[in-house]
Amino acid sequence: MPLWTLRGLRRGVVTTRYPARPDPSARLLPSPPAFRPDVLTPGLADRLVAVCPSRALARDADVLVFDVGACTACGRCRAEAPQAVGDSGEFELAATARAHLIKRIPLAGRPA
Ligand code: SF4
Repeated sequence: MPLWTLRGLRRGVVTTRYPARPDPSARLLPSPPAFRPDVLTPGLADRLVAVCPSRALARDADVLVFDVGACTACGRCRAEAPQAVGDSGEFELAATARAHLIKRIPLAGRPA
């Protein structure tokens, strides 16, 4: 149980100071992946696309297209290729336009 929950129960305050201050418990939340273009190859990108259950990933020639708005932060792509996919730690994903949530990641890795 996060510390702020216990403090809130004791003081009667049930909210945190977020967003004025980052909440420490946010570090424990799952967040969308961060990709390493230098390691991504077309073959590896195809494997990541295949394991993504929400279709947040697609390959467009030498680019991995990542729809952050469709990502559920399930972690399957990280489990598939931990050498190429890390945790972004970013969960504040508000955008003014849907297109801002689409990322195009170049596949700069060399096939093994
Ligand atoms: S974390 Fe899950 S939903 Fe998001 S891109 Fe990876 S496999 Fe897809």
